[in-house]
Formats: sequence, structure tokens, C-alpha cells
Amino acid sequence: MGLYRNDSSPQPWVRKTSCQLDVTLTRLCLGHTRLTAHLHRLHISPDLYCPWCPTVPETIKHFLLECPRFYSHRTVLRTQLLTLGMNTFDMPTLLGATGVHPSRQSTVICLTCAFLKKSGQQPHL
Ligand SMILES: [Zn+2]
Repeated sequence: MGLYRNDSSPQPWVRKTSCQLDVTLTRLCLGHTRLTAHLHRLHISPDLYCPWCPTVPETIKHFLLECPRFYSHRTVLRTQLLTLGMNTFDMPTLLGATGVHPSRQSTVICLTCAFLKKSGQQPHL
């Protein structure tokens, strides 16, 4: 761990209000989810495609940014971020990791968590 971080302070996505959400956000940040593309890479799932998009691998990027199944929830999230003056809509922004001012990281992560809850996909992440 010391190779990657200089301090041991909690990461911005650790909120301690919901263990399940903290685990989900940590998995998304680390890239270790139960989405089929990752499970396929680990030889756990024979299929790598999104259940709603039969020709597209179910990656974190696809789930968060592209899958039409979650379009309405994503539109709400994007609108909320625009209200905060944030025009960038990418994975680092949604996970509050980079490109987000520290004073807004908590708000962005709360909005991302609302998206995750509304998607109903937490058990699969
Ligand atoms: Zn999809």
C-alpha cells in the first residue's frame, strides 16, 4: 500500500454511513466488481456481456456511463452534477477521485450513491 499512497487517511468514498455502499464504491474504484466482464476475465463467468446489451461487455464504464437500462437515473445524476457546476461526467468524477474539488467530493459521492441505489445493481457490484 505504501507504494501507492503516502498517507493512511480514509479515501473520500469511505463514508461510514452504509457499509454496503462503501464496499460497492471501493469495488468500483478498485475495478473488482461482480459485473460479468470482470467475472469473465477471472474465468468465473462464461459470458461477458451486459444483460440488457447483448453485444456490449458489462464493464464498470458501461454500467456507470453507457448502459441504456440506467439512462433515466444517469440523466438525473448528470443534471445534479451540472447544477453543482461540474461539466465532466466520467468515472473519476463520479467516484470523486480526481478532478473534483475536495469540498465537493462528499456531495458527488452522495449523488453517485443515489444512482447506485436507484439502479438496483448493488448486489451485482
Ligand atoms: Zn448495458
